[in-house]
Amino acid sequence: MTLPEDEVVTLASELIAIDTTNPGTYGGPGPERAGAEYVAAKLAEAGFDPEYVESGAPGRGNVVVRLPGADPGRGALLVHGHLDVVAADPADWSVHPFSGEVRDGYVWGRGAVDMKGMLAMTLAVARHFKRTGVVPPRDLIFAYLADEEAGGVVGAQWLVEHRPDLFAGATEAISEVGGFSVQLGDGPRAYLVETAEKGSMWLRLAARGTAGHGSLLHTDNPIAKLAAALDRLDRHRFPMILTDPVRELLEGSGLPFDPADPEATVAKLGHLSRLIEATLRDTATVTIVDAGYKSNVVPSIARAEVDGRTLPGRDEAFRAELGAVLGPDIEVEWSSLPAVRTTFDGDLVAAMAAATAAEDPGSRLLPYMLPAGTDAKSFARLGIRHFGFAPLRLPPELDFTALFHGVDERVPVDALRFGVRVLDRLLRSC
Ligand SMILES: [Zn+2]
Repeated sequence: MTLPEDEVVTLASELIAIDTTNPGTYGGPGPERAGAEYVAAKLAEAGFDPEYVESGAPGRGNVVVRLPGADPGRGALLVHGHLDVVAADPADWSVHPFSGEVRDGYVWGRGAVDMKGMLAMTLAVARHFKRTGVVPPRDLIFAYLADEEAGGVVGAQWLVEHRPDLFAGATEAISEVGGFSVQLGDGPRAYLVETAEKGSMWLRLAARGTAGHGSLLHTDNPIAKLAAALDRLDRHRFPMILTDPVRELLEGSGLPFDPADPEATVAKLGHLSRLIEATLRDTATVTIVDAGYKSNVVPSIARAEVDGRTLPGRDEAFRAELGAVLGPDIEVEWSSLPAVRTTFDGDLVAAMAAATAAEDPGSRLLPYMLPAGTDAKSFARLGIRHFGFAPLRLPPELDFTALFHGVDERVPVDALRFGVRVLDRLLRSC
């Protein structure tokens, strides 16, 4: 009999070899169909009858399947992941990013950690349960989704709006960006569970001025106005706010922690510091500037885009503060997705802790907040509690968070085999 841990590496490698690079077109055609068909075939081979769903944008395949549980009265657990990946330039990599090569104890390639490794783990467990007749305690819904990397417009968002029946009865979900191990101080190994995500606030800025010949004196140059506003924004620090998941993480870290000075503890978190420091305050980072068309012409407009990220409950305060920093000369268009959060408690959290400790005795779970966003934001609209839990036991020296969207993205073979054992235990006991 094939055990999940015997096939997880092959599944991950084969999924990586299917190039599903998100085109970033916010709803246009895309490449997920091949990945979705691969997943659907693997599910069908084990006896499932998966549903393939496309939004109408050609090629943006999603696959959803339900495994009925022993107690239909209990809310279902949604296990979801995204099929798409971000772009990768082979010239930068040690191996081809779409090779799925297994070398030196790692599976290499775009998507290894974000998030085809997790897809492979859940696929391996789903296949094993179906083949061996495992009946989980409650319904499990496995969903393999398009377009997460561009907000899920033709993936999770579309399904939530047009096919909520696929997720009927789901009360909780597990997915990406959590469950990985970290070594904090001298304490026991900890596994971080994502219980909150900052909100996204995308801003399009515009400054207007008087167009004219570049050889003349100008006092109303829109580029200069925009540049000054962007410089103020770059130097601005939003207020530090200690939210529950960050406080619980720092308290549980085993490091010295003074609630009045959380930054001192965050600075001691090693590779994790950059991730956690971004959850102590709102951020607003300019990412695109666009102005002018000829070197001897002052244009009448200058534009920029800003990537804003807000702590839960901060949207209104953020808008007001940002408007004051930019000043009255800057026009601002907003588009936003609110933050999501849940509490770090309940039976599912206990089951995650038990499953992890069974495979890594003495370890513990800690909550944290993701400064970015995932498909969890879409499923939150259906009232589904989200936990980032894609379990991986990692070597402490590995800078895991740098691998997301990074060059030479890779995942340890041992970590995948560990993760699939934890998920097998969790999904039997959830
Ligand atoms: Zn991801």
